[in-house]
Amino acid sequence: MKQIMIATSNAHKVAEFTRMLEPFGYEVKSLLDLDDAIAIEENGATFQENALIKARAIHEKLQIAVVSDDSGLAVNAMNGAPGIYSARFMGEDNGYDVKNQAIIDEVNKHTDRGAQFICAMAYIEQDGSEHVFTGVVEGEIATEIIGEGGFGYDPIFYYPPYQTTLANVSEDQKHKVSHRGRALAQLIAYMEEHHS
Ligand code: IMP
Repeated sequence: MKQIMIATSNAHKVAEFTRMLEPFGYEVKSLLDLDDAIAIEENGATFQENALIKARAIHEKLQIAVVSDDSGLAVNAMNGAPGIYSARFMGEDNGYDVKNQAIIDEVNKHTDRGAQFICAMAYIEQDGSEHVFTGVVEGEIATEIIGEGGFGYDPIFYYPPYQTTLANVSEDQKHKVSHRGRALAQLIAYMEEHHS
């Protein structure tokens, strides 16, 4: 059976990818299956570069198909920050309640509340061919923290069509419109076209 490595240690992401990719005859592996960690320096300047850097490092080592993603929040009033630094924004000592309130406070000084979640998904086929799919969801920074679901910046990401934040909807509702869901849909469409 063909193997595909999903470059993540997040069991939730692994389950989601497994459900989507098994119909294509792939045995889905993740970083959780590796005995030795692969050192990866994510030093790209964009989500797309970082996703490719991760995928290339793994493909080089294992010579199997790889999917990796890199994502984050870009806030217009903060010139696109925290962007590729979303995971590291304000350091590890601060929880997302503090980070989210800091973003609300900053955006309150501006009229533009616009923000995007962006996800770049890199796919390297076993033969080394490279592809990158980008999913974007447009929203606004909420005026307060709302909702208990999701993770990270979801409680401040107001999605106008839902009239609430992405932390205040079901996982299915989020996945349907999310940056990751949209990038994954492009990957699946590519596979349906080229691998059936
Ligand atoms: P990763 O590239 O998927 O690990 O995401 C990097 C960081 O971006 C996360 O640690 C979060 O801070 C933020 N982020 C990415 N996707 C989401 C999302 O769907 N909701 C909320 N925050 C997100």
